[in-house]
Amino acid sequence: MNGIFSDRMQDVPRSFIREILKVTMDPEIISFAGGLPNRAFFPIDELRVATDQVFAERGADCLQYSNSEGLLELRAFIAQRYQEQQGIRLDPEQILITNGSQQALDLLAKVVLNDGESVVVEEPGYLGAIQALSLYRPRYLPVPVHDDGMAVDQLASAVERDRPRLMYTVPNFQNPSGISYSSENRREVAEIIAGRDLLLIEDDPYGALRFRGEASPSFYHLLPDQTVLLGSFSKIVVPGFRLGWIAAPAELYEKLLIAKQAADLHTCNFTQYILLRYLQDNDLDKHISRIIEAYGRQCRAMLAAIDRSFPDTVTCTRPDGGMFLWGRLPDGLPAMDLFERAVARRVVFVPGEPFYTAAGATSTFRLNFSCVGELVITDGIGRIAEAIGEMIA
Ligand code: PMP
Repeated sequence: MNGIFSDRMQDVPRSFIREILKVTMDPEIISFAGGLPNRAFFPIDELRVATDQVFAERGADCLQYSNSEGLLELRAFIAQRYQEQQGIRLDPEQILITNGSQQALDLLAKVVLNDGESVVVEEPGYLGAIQALSLYRPRYLPVPVHDDGMAVDQLASAVERDRPRLMYTVPNFQNPSGISYSSENRREVAEIIAGRDLLLIEDDPYGALRFRGEASPSFYHLLPDQTVLLGSFSKIVVPGFRLGWIAAPAELYEKLLIAKQAADLHTCNFTQYILLRYLQDNDLDKHISRIIEAYGRQCRAMLAAIDRSFPDTVTCTRPDGGMFLWGRLPDGLPAMDLFERAVARRVVFVPGEPFYTAAGATSTFRLNFSCVGELVITDGIGRIAEAIGEMIA
């Protein structure tokens, strides 16, 4: 069978996290491994009402084929939100509704990258982006991210040396590390790439989930002609609708639209209608504030338990929002060993390996705090602390 597969499928790994999630379906296991939004906040009653209304108002039309760009009213809602929340002026015609922001990554790579061209990625970086980009066979230029953003010296030399076409960033509450780029770091990054033939992807599914501190301006304010904005309803309404978007300059938009048509004709318009009705009849900000309140509480509980029970030699990030934090074991201790010891104690997380484009053992690991209540968080972190104790004893 091997002979029939395309070259581009050669090096793309299966999603390691999806493999781990299979192991953790067992309800007895405490899981900090997932990357899921908390289902307790899915507005199912409101979505049921919205669904009934869509059927009543639109009848069979809501099940007909639709346009590839997405519903204009939904795109107008997104544009208005950019204006209100971030002072970003966008024409709804610049917004393309995609099948989650995951599809946006695929489409962007498809229209921009030739085989072997260079892409700057964050290290560690979002696994799903690495997987999506890998199908287009890029050469990765991993640039480390630290507590306040990208390592600008490394970025500058990578950009100068390799002339990348794309740069993928998650500047707010990054997956997997939970860090955000400071305003200063964003300015430095923008200075390095300004005027180059390089498109910066700002993927921002978590920006609305801030439970502490002040937002820094989007890259769009610094580099309007080079920035592509990716957004998603997955973390603020529901992921199962698979509704996300790209906001892109006109020329790029044209190409993305062709790629979108070729991929799937259009994003499911039934869920777009339901979401639109939901957004028109409900207060999204109030809904988001309930999510933030819980995630903030859970993050604080996790950090408090870590401060109490992990040795000082294990460090972790202290996110201001989002769903993840990132731990680092003392040098040389592989997080995979900790993972195995943790599984024996019926608690799981994701070891850092899959978030790096280069293979090799790492001492880092990701902890998710969105789905588990405070008591269970405290219990689970205590079990990991025991496992760490056993490793460094
Ligand atoms: N980007 C990042 C950084 C993510 O963490 C995720 C989901 N975990 C996505 C994109 C994909 O989201 P969507 O559901 O919109 O496809």
